[in-house]
Amino acid sequence: MTDFFQLSPGNTIGILGGGQLGRMLALAAYRLGMKVHILCPDSDCPAFAVTPHKTIASYTDQAALTCFADAVDVVTYEFENVPATTAQFLAQRKQLRPGARALAIAQDRLEEKTFLSGIGVPVADYLAVTSPADLLEAINSIGTPAVLKTTRLGYDGKGQVVIRSADEAAAAFDVLSPKPLVLERYVPFTREISVVAARGADGSVRAYEPAENRHVGGILRSSTVPAQISDALAERAYEITAHILTSLDYIGVIGVEFFIIEDRDLLVNEIAPRVHNSGHWTEAVCATDQFEQHIRAVAGWPLGDTSRFADVVMENVLGEAMIGERDLITRGTRPHLYGKTEARPGRKMGHVNRILRPI
Ligand code: AMP
Repeated sequence: MTDFFQLSPGNTIGILGGGQLGRMLALAAYRLGMKVHILCPDSDCPAFAVTPHKTIASYTDQAALTCFADAVDVVTYEFENVPATTAQFLAQRKQLRPGARALAIAQDRLEEKTFLSGIGVPVADYLAVTSPADLLEAINSIGTPAVLKTTRLGYDGKGQVVIRSADEAAAAFDVLSPKPLVLERYVPFTREISVVAARGADGSVRAYEPAENRHVGGILRSSTVPAQISDALAERAYEITAHILTSLDYIGVIGVEFFIIEDRDLLVNEIAPRVHNSGHWTEAVCATDQFEQHIRAVAGWPLGDTSRFADVVMENVLGEAMIGERDLITRGTRPHLYGKTEARPGRKMGHVNRILRPI
C-alpha cells in the first residue's frame, strides 16, 4: 500500500457504521461519483437505505471484515466505538482513514486526555479512578463539583455523573462501576463551541468556523454560527485543532469540542474522529459541507472550500419532537431527516438548518 493514493469515480469507499452520519457520508460520496459499502450489524440502519452495497455483520466477524476489505478501495468509519482490533485488522488490508491511532485515542477518555495534554493542549484537570478510595483521593485533589465519567462508550451525556460533594462519591461510583472511570474538574464554562476541520492526504488543513453549541441533558440541541466569541479565541481554537490533526497524522474530518470560560480561556472537552453533529450546518451554508470534505479527504482529493455564506442555526430533531410536534420540521428552511421509523425520546431523528442573514 502506498501512503498517498487517490480514488476515482466508480471506486468504493467502505464505511464502518450505518447511522445517520454514515448515511450522509454515503450521499456525499455518490454525489462525487463514488460508491459506498456500509458494514453495520443492524439490518435496519439509516445508511442501508442509500446504498445497495452492504454487509450486515458484527464488527468482530473476521470473515465478514475480510470480504468487506476486498470489496472496497479505502475504509473509513462514522462512529468512534469501532473496536480497536477491527480497525487494526482492516488497516492491514486497506487504507484506513482516519487511522487506527486516532480511533484508539478518541474512544477512551483517559487516553484522549493523556494524548491532548502530551501535545500541550489544555484540558480540564482529570484523574483515573478504579476504586472508591481512588475516587475520594481524586476528589480531594481536584475538588468539587466534578464529573465522574466512564472512560469508554459514553456519549450524549450517558456514562457520567456530576459529584457536588464528597458525600455523593460512593453513590456515583456505584452507578458507573465496574467500568474504568475518570474524574474531571467541573468546568464553569460560559459557552461550548466546536471546530469541525479536515486534514487532507497532502497534509493541508481546512477548518470551518466555530459553532456555538447548546446541550440539554448532555444531548446537542443546537449549533449556531457565528459563535459569540472573540476572533482571538476562534484563532486559538483553530490552532489547537490543526495541531491535533497534524500530531495524529490524521486524514479526514474531525470534531473538536471546547469549553469557553469568560471569553478568555478555552479547554478541549473531547475530540470525535469523524464528521460531527455540530457540523451539520455546513450542509446548508458552505460551499463544501463536512460530509463531502470527509469523502474528499479519504479519497485523497484536494479539500474543498470551507467558507460560509450565511449565518445559520442547526437544530436537532429529537424523537420527542417527531412524536409530539411533527410540524417542527416544516418550520426549518432545510430539514434533513434520517429515515428512522422508530421515534424515541432523545433519539436523533433529523436536523433542521435555519438559514439566517446572508453575509
Ligand atoms: P461529553 O460526553 O463529555 O461531551 O459531555 C456532554 C456534555 O456534558 C458536555 O457537552 C457538557 O455540556 C457537559 N460536561 C461534560 N464534562 C463536563 C465538565 N468537566 N464540566 C462541565 N460540564 C461538562
